[in-house]
Amino acid sequence: MKKADTTVKALNIYISGIVQGVGFRPFIHRIARKSGVRGTVRNMGGSEVEIHVEGTNEEINSFLQLLEKEKPPPAIIEEIRLEESSFLGLEGFSILKSGKSRVRPSMIPPDIGICDYCLEEIKDPKDRRFRYAFNSCAWCGPRFSLIEKIPYDRENTTMRDFPLCDYCKSEYYDEDNLRRFDAQGICCPLCGPKLWLVNASGETLDSQDPITEAAKLLSEGRILAIKGLGGFHIASLATDDSVVLELRKRKKRPQKPFALMALDIETVKKIIYLSEEAESLLKSPQKPILLLDEREDSPVSRHVAPGLDKQGVMLPYTGLHYLLLEEVEDGFLIMTSGNPPGKPMCLDESCALTELKDIVDYYLMHNRRIINRVDDSVLRFTDGNLMFLRRSRGYAPSWIKLPFSLRRPVVAFGAELQNAGAVAFEDKVILTQYIGDTDEFEDLQELEKSLTFFLKTYGIDVRESILVADMHPSYSSVRLAEAWSEELGVPLIKVQHHHAHAASVMADWGVRMEEKVVSILMDGVGYGLDGSIWGGEVFLANYSGFERVGRLKYLPMPGGDLATKFPVRMLIGALSVFSKREEIEKIIVERGLVRGLKRGMSELEIAIKQGIGGRAMKTCSVGRFLDAISALLGICLERTYEGEPAIKLEASAKGGKIRDVESILTKEGDLLVVDTTRLLLWTLEHLDLPLNDLSATVLYALGRALGEIAVQSISGATLNEVFIGGGAAVNSYLFKGIKDALAGEDLAARLPRRIPAGDGGIALGQAAIATANDVNLEG
Ligand SMILES: [Zn+2]
Ligand SMILES: [Zn+2]
Repeated sequence: MKKADTTVKALNIYISGIVQGVGFRPFIHRIARKSGVRGTVRNMGGSEVEIHVEGTNEEINSFLQLLEKEKPPPAIIEEIRLEESSFLGLEGFSILKSGKSRVRPSMIPPDIGICDYCLEEIKDPKDRRFRYAFNSCAWCGPRFSLIEKIPYDRENTTMRDFPLCDYCKSEYYDEDNLRRFDAQGICCPLCGPKLWLVNASGETLDSQDPITEAAKLLSEGRILAIKGLGGFHIASLATDDSVVLELRKRKKRPQKPFALMALDIETVKKIIYLSEEAESLLKSPQKPILLLDEREDSPVSRHVAPGLDKQGVMLPYTGLHYLLLEEVEDGFLIMTSGNPPGKPMCLDESCALTELKDIVDYYLMHNRRIINRVDDSVLRFTDGNLMFLRRSRGYAPSWIKLPFSLRRPVVAFGAELQNAGAVAFEDKVILTQYIGDTDEFEDLQELEKSLTFFLKTYGIDVRESILVADMHPSYSSVRLAEAWSEELGVPLIKVQHHHAHAASVMADWGVRMEEKVVSILMDGVGYGLDGSIWGGEVFLANYSGFERVGRLKYLPMPGGDLATKFPVRMLIGALSVFSKREEIEKIIVERGLVRGLKRGMSELEIAIKQGIGGRAMKTCSVGRFLDAISALLGICLERTYEGEPAIKLEASAKGGKIRDVESILTKEGDLLVVDTTRLLLWTLEHLDLPLNDLSATVLYALGRALGEIAVQSISGATLNEVFIGGGAAVNSYLFKGIKDALAGEDLAARLPRRIPAGDGGIALGQAAIATANDVNLEG
């Protein structure tokens, strides 16, 4: 007999990550019994679970192995800490209530896409939940979208409207039921939410099977509003040009791409090229929209993503979506957010019936209330790096931990377009879900509602916090922050836009307070300290401040904001730096670009005058320079959505060869400056090259030049890493240029990983900067 086998010991195991609201405690209970250990498990504050186990070495080792091997699919174990503990001689294994020992709030869990097991059940004619649209379990289903307060218990969600039937109740209390024991959101056809179909006049149709009816209507070319998980979608066929164009007309959305939802991976593969990494992300519990390269033989109408080389696809993330797609012959549909132009997505029936009535023909409704609006998340690959374009469903509101602690809570208001705010406390930053463009009143209200929800839910007294907003004098989000500050007597810090971008990427990578780094920021608009519009910046920055070490050359914006909407104006502005009036006119006319000006030749004359006159607003933004190139190459003459000319320029570069361009770096005083006019001149001299070569070369050369500035500035930094942010950082060619410039000096290029590079991620940096500057504040 070996002595060691019978020696018993005790361990405390602390696990943090996504371990609450995902059936983690029942899972621990099960593997405890399987491995023979005795003990307890309970939710701690924060996002931590505490497990006490007692048993032989062998039993405990087997427990630890099962912990890794059999964890529920949506659970993410970020950290495991083991501590020796005193042996209590416990019998059996029990789940302790969180109870009063809770010192810190638990995380509001994000929504989780339907799991494979629930999907199998709704496909199985013998199952009680066969074809049940709202099937979910401990491992999947809505969370954040229907939670009213924490902790995540059924009575704190809108599922309390649906008392469990006896069947569901018996599963809920059955310790051996892996997926339904203690699962807060479960239901079935007997006790759960129900569906119905409504016609254009708002009358409920007498329908036995609303899903089949809806699928039939969609297949016939009708446009439907569909209540989903975090709001309404608008759905239609994606293969029929006339249907897609009709949807564009009704939604007043001439060019912006629509997302697709496809039944399964096989269907996805008919539309786009799918890597293994992309496939596993599509199938992940978050089930995001992923932008992927479209196949040449894709069956999708070219009007779904005009002028682009990618399609945004996602898999069904609820039973409802799956069942619907199963009955649509194409196997995929357009699924775009169900919002009227300029307003947030509808959450309830009455909003849909009033706001969407000019867009849709029918409505598929259900009676599960939605508390928090959650749009679909969107990601893409940038030179192989996964990047967020929109961080919402499935990700928000998971918190992001900072490498330092806050002195007091912070409320961050973000920027303006495609905005998200944040509430931060201790060492955690909770970015709100995607809000929208807060220059629209309803979206601004949504930001306020969302910030208020997080403050209340996490028990934060806003009067003990500090506020942080952008510096832009005309952002609505700034005015909202000012109103809060005045009303509540709370200090407000205003942060330069690109400093916040830099700090966001730094915080995402865990850069500590004492470090100083080089950061490259590329976007469309940001209010600069000199009153001009910044957006092509190289900073030497820490969280408390920054020094501008480089930028793009300033270019005039003839007509100010008009130049943002009409890229030809930006081209005229850039040309006016080195050309005479007649030369500019000749280029614009010969390239057929007069049609990019609303009032033709007369507008051309005015714009040239404005450009040459020297009084026009100036910008060094990457976005505006790319607008000029996009116009010159005839790729985009009117911007109908955020970033359109630059996005289409990137699409046009596909397969392009990168040509040699002489250095475009110059100096203005102490500043290193990228002379974009030389790049424009190079383009003018090489217009006979293939379009994709031109696009690829301009983007790459611009990135390369910014990278060279970073290299020349690195001696002032404490880290051999360069942090890259701003909305244009998602551009693969720009990034490649930067990366190649840095690689020569063994510097690492850091892109954001957990937050959008654009303004949807800026609140993270604002929170970090506010904390770093908190010492200087009174109050
Ligand atoms: Zn499930
Ligand atoms: Zn039931």
